[in-house]
Amino acid sequence: MSASSPLCIFCKIIKGEIPALKLVETEKVISFLDINPLAKGHSLVIPKYHAEKFHELPDDYVSDVLPVAKKIAVASGLSNYNILQNNGRIAHQEVPHVHFHVIPKPSESENEGLVVGWPAHQVPNDQLKQVWEEIKGKL
Ligand code: AMP
Repeated sequence: MSASSPLCIFCKIIKGEIPALKLVETEKVISFLDINPLAKGHSLVIPKYHAEKFHELPDDYVSDVLPVAKKIAVASGLSNYNILQNNGRIAHQEVPHVHFHVIPKPSESENEGLVVGWPAHQVPNDQLKQVWEEIKGKL
């Protein structure tokens, strides 16, 4: 592992210092069942690199995460599911080590799986264009 944090619970799982029900392990990524699942089979995919937020993760770790998430979704036979990745406390990040959730959405129960709030706002086109120009100008 290229970067590790001694107090990080996910770094401890990577190092084998605390147990986890591991699903897939590659050179750069590890996945395991979430200890408090939102649905049966809820799992996490984490890079073997301690970065708190997604944009801090080196690209070679970024590119190895989603193929593992896909492998889990295929192996689990999921057709309804969410891939979730939270950054920052107010965005619901509890563990400060980048992780991707694979959350099955069982068709039998609306209360199982991820429940999403989506407070969309309608905005005038000129406002959208202004935001587009701001972001595009920095890319
Ligand atoms: P987040 O809110 O995106 O930071 O989610 C953190 C997730 O990590 C939660 O769903 C927790 O249930 C899960 N979690 C925390 N500690 C462990 C652990 N030791 N093993 C497995 N999952 C864990």
